[in-house]
Amino acid sequence: MQYGPFYKNVVFLNYNYLCINYINVVQAGKHCPFCLIANNQADTDILLTDDELVCFRDMKPGATHHYLVVTRTHVDSCKSLREDDIPLVERMVEMGRSILEKNKVSDLDDVRMGFHVPPFSSVPHLHLHALAPASTMSFKSQLHYGPQSHWFITVDKVLSQLKTRGKVK
Ligand SMILES: [Zn+2]
Ligand SMILES: [Zn+2]
Repeated sequence: MQYGPFYKNVVFLNYNYLCINYINVVQAGKHCPFCLIANNQADTDILLTDDELVCFRDMKPGATHHYLVVTRTHVDSCKSLREDDIPLVERMVEMGRSILEKNKVSDLDDVRMGFHVPPFSSVPHLHLHALAPASTMSFKSQLHYGPQSHWFITVDKVLSQLKTRGKVK
């Protein structure tokens, strides 16, 4: 028979193709580091959690206190948020404030909370940065988490843009 090796190759390629598709569909979230953390599949200390959100320490702190609040389900970034998501963002802020309070941050007015703006998000999964004290952040930290930074948008701006235009510009 002439078709032996050829036939084997076709089967092999199809098998590979199916496997790759299966992995992409079933494990899409498993390639995202924050999905792994949110699903307890990473070696990260979870500090606060509820059925919707998870909070943990930022690996490269930009201030004395630096925490991240992420959604359990995968959301790409603040650009994916719509008006309906205002309560979600408010709950993220609430968890951010809770973790700062829990860690004895006394001045809750001297905090910085916000999101990185794509394509400058280090991890493309919606995460709220909560930093304190904001007033003593280094110049480098201000570049990454400052209200004037092109890479960062404060949560107040996100909320007001969602209220007025239904999305983050
Ligand atoms: Zn994710
Ligand atoms: Zn970020």
